Amino acid sequence: MAARELVVLGTASQAPTRTRNHNGYLLRWDGRGFLFDPGEGTQRQMLLAGVPSSAVHRILVSHFHGDHCLGLPGVVQRMSLDGVAHPVTAHYPASGQQWFDRLRHASVFADRAEIREEPVHDDGVLAEDPAGTIEARRLEHPVPSVGYRLVEPDGRRMVPDRLAAAGVAGPDVGRLQREGVLRVGETTVRLEDVSEPRRGQVFAFVMDTRMCLNVAALAEGADLLVIESTFLAEDEALARRYGHLTARQAARVAADAGVRRLVLSHFSQRYPDPRAFEEEARAEFDGDLVVAEDLQRVAVPARAPAGESAADG
Ligand SMILES: [Zn+2]
Repeated sequence: MAARELVVLGTASQAPTRTRNHNGYLLRWDGRGFLFDPGEGTQRQMLLAGVPSSAVHRILVSHFHGDHCLGLPGVVQRMSLDGVAHPVTAHYPASGQQWFDRLRHASVFADRAEIREEPVHDDGVLAEDPAGTIEARRLEHPVPSVGYRLVEPDGRRMVPDRLAAAGVAGPDVGRLQREGVLRVGETTVRLEDVSEPRRGQVFAFVMDTRMCLNVAALAEGADLLVIESTFLAEDEALARRYGHLTARQAARVAADAGVRRLVLSHFSQRYPDPRAFEEEARAEFDGDLVVAEDLQRVAVPARAPAGESAADG
């Protein structure tokens, strides 16, 4: 298993199909787990994907249409059943508190898992996680909807050859990383001398919305973008009316934002052949493109080389 990957649990909008469950996306990131939009059936999809409930540290809901949240009761109750020992933080649009409350307490169960509620009130930084900073931004949909972004801070990568040349080894490496400078015999070694910049990675999640400025802001420079692509361009008027994107719009945003790997999802059941989404998106976007399938695993792409921005990659 890759240390950073997206586990696609479901890809259908509105109504599930024979081959597509309601939405559900688990981002695994160095031992942290972020469960986005658990639609109906998410508990079972996690089982099929081989993901335990204890893998989830945060639940992030874009909005309270059923295809994005009806799986919450099952997931929350399963966490209690499994005796998940760590607290789990739930994020969702603050105006939807009443829906969250109902889903959180949908039926009788031994309520043991610790679910912390941190609703989204404004655009901007939502939380600091060991994986990075979590941001939220309002989207445009008939009901309040938000997108999310995980931003890993920039860091530095130690270069073994330079460490060896400077005579730094063992516990001194950690000390140099913490303190930035180290005395080795008669010389002073600075962190910059033996390391190089390491750009932090970005994950972005954009579900139900019509095109708006915050779609681009969320997608900006993302290494991995998961974005709704409910309609094809031939139905752009429908997309606008119901507050959704077309595959062409989603791919255009990704191209303009310098996205490295693009995952399209949340497909309308009106289109029988997913290749149409791929063909349409391909005309706009020439990076890595994934038309998501249930239970697919999509790796976060390897880090761009130091000094190279995502837009170059
Ligand atoms: Zn939806």
